[in-house]
Amino acid sequence: MGKKQFKAESKRLLDLMINSIYTNKEIFLREIISNASDAIDKLCYLSLTDENVGLSRSDYKIDIIADKEARTLTVRDNGIGMSMEEAENNLGVIARSGSLKFKGEMDENRAEGEDLSIIGQFGVGFYSAFMVADEVTVITRKYGEEQGVKWQSRGAEGYTVEPCERAAAGTDVIMHIKPDSEEEIYGSYLEVWKVKALVKKYSDYVRWPIKMDIEHQERFETGETDDEGRPKYDYKMVTENETVNSMVPIWQRSKSEVTDDDCIAFYKEKNRDRKDPCALVRINAEGAVSYKAMLFVPGEENENAFSGDNKGGITLYSNGVMIMEKCDKLVHDYFEFVKGVVDSPDLSLNISRELLQHDRQLRIIGQNLEKRIKGELEKLMRDDRPKYEEFYRNFGVHLKCGVCDEYGRYKDFLRDLLIFYTSEDRQITLKDYVENMPESQKAIYFASADSVKHAMSLPQCEEVRARGYELIYLTSPLDQMVLESLREQDGKSFCNVVTDDLGFETEEEKKAAQERDIENKELLDFVKEALGESVTAVRLSRKLASQPCCLTTEGGITLEMEKYFRHGPSEEMRKLRANRVLELNPEHPAFTALKAAYESDKGRAGKLAKVLGTLAELTAGVEVEDPAAFTLLVSELF
Ligand code: ADP
Repeated sequence: MGKKQFKAESKRLLDLMINSIYTNKEIFLREIISNASDAIDKLCYLSLTDENVGLSRSDYKIDIIADKEARTLTVRDNGIGMSMEEAENNLGVIARSGSLKFKGEMDENRAEGEDLSIIGQFGVGFYSAFMVADEVTVITRKYGEEQGVKWQSRGAEGYTVEPCERAAAGTDVIMHIKPDSEEEIYGSYLEVWKVKALVKKYSDYVRWPIKMDIEHQERFETGETDDEGRPKYDYKMVTENETVNSMVPIWQRSKSEVTDDDCIAFYKEKNRDRKDPCALVRINAEGAVSYKAMLFVPGEENENAFSGDNKGGITLYSNGVMIMEKCDKLVHDYFEFVKGVVDSPDLSLNISRELLQHDRQLRIIGQNLEKRIKGELEKLMRDDRPKYEEFYRNFGVHLKCGVCDEYGRYKDFLRDLLIFYTSEDRQITLKDYVENMPESQKAIYFASADSVKHAMSLPQCEEVRARGYELIYLTSPLDQMVLESLREQDGKSFCNVVTDDLGFETEEEKKAAQERDIENKELLDFVKEALGESVTAVRLSRKLASQPCCLTTEGGITLEMEKYFRHGPSEEMRKLRANRVLELNPEHPAFTALKAAYESDKGRAGKLAKVLGTLAELTAGVEVEDPAAFTLLVSELF
């Protein structure tokens, strides 16, 4: 039987891992135990619908066997096991989608000369066994199959697989522990006290019993008596098969027993996340529906390095038995980043995804969870603003999409969680914005561009700021859609300073402006003619202060949307253009110059018109199509 090679990427990773000077080798046990526990979960889950499994809940266990003579440490489970194909696919490749990212980060780390400590932070699954073992043998049999499989590898050089006998479904991972070296006494992983301590440290909450043979002294009566007639005792070593983990899932324990730090450690281990979560919700609900929940808002969008699984997700348990992983119907998509567990004895065990939506109890739980998550986020916003802003950078997009989803059905639930820039370093809620509005201010003014800085520099903002009003600066078309969906805040409507009437003019001013428009009609038509198709209209501006001109848009598509659509999926979408309107500032000397040229030198007036058109594009952040031609045009005017 030939030796099979690991996939190239796995091989490199494996090399790196085994040969790195890595201090935290002990996590290998946690990884192997966690795989065993998952395998039992799977079989236990199957047994809900398949009565042939023949095991009851109390039969499941994980055995750890340390054999000093053979120098092997075995982790045995009676879980679902693996078929030949699965053993090859699952144990033969590290590479799944997440590993590329992992490798990238590792390379970065290396460049900085670090010791690849990232490995321990993520957890590397099965492969971590090679940190302490020079050979690993896996004897496994898949539930429902007759034959077992023996998979064997001495590390990076490859592996072998062959059929073998195994009495029942389950898996043995037999690690042949490396010889002791100067840096590491690998033999300690064969010491019962050490292994027990590692189980306590990393795997205490594993739901299934982790059993070990543990020797201890036992006192016994010798049958003799001492001088005073009292029985004599002696001691002997006895071995007992003990459960070494406490098994009670962390979320089942009372708040007084488990600190928030314990919960955070649980989260990080479970999700292989290096970062602390930014919010934690613990619920112990009793009443119409009883349940316990422990939910986390991750510190950052974390792509699980190994499963490539980036989704949050809440796992459903009924009395400690997992009934659904990543139950995505419990909370709405806008909270889909929340991770954690919900455990309720009231849930039926064989709930299906379809039933879920209709399950009354789950709906009640879901609603409560949402309220609590929202409450926790509001608290974070109040108590630790920088942290909330970080959360918002990571997950704000989910909330924004939530506001726009289903025709704004959830907008009122979510609106107080939204924050908007009012300057480059300040973000506020719309509620706060309205509270701070001066009496005279009628609307919520906003400007939109690709960055806050750019939005702030739009000429149309000047007039608003000059009146002492604050503006909201939007940086994506989604922000604009959010405002459209919200429609108003505390009775105040939104006003896009680029496209909407600012509402500052008195009736008299309006009239004067109309007269001015009529007076200048010929000139404006001339400018439009000179600019051709690039604009749909040319007008006198009522918004500009110091700038000579600006570009606004008419109709549904704004310049931001146009930019966004340029990268759209269809040709049709990419072709969509905003209707551009050139606005000229009639108070500006540039306009006076244009007017004079129009009367004396039409050729020069045409050139000035084009210059103004391009300047307006520049201030609006639109790329100038032909910069060289523009330079020539300007230089001709000297
Ligand atoms: P991960 O657990 O992150 O998926 P691992 O490298 O630890 O990555 O394991 C790879 C896969 O091998 C697991 O997802 C599982 O399908 C399979 N596996 C590992 N150990 C066992 C086991 N004891 N029983 C059944 N399947 C296992």
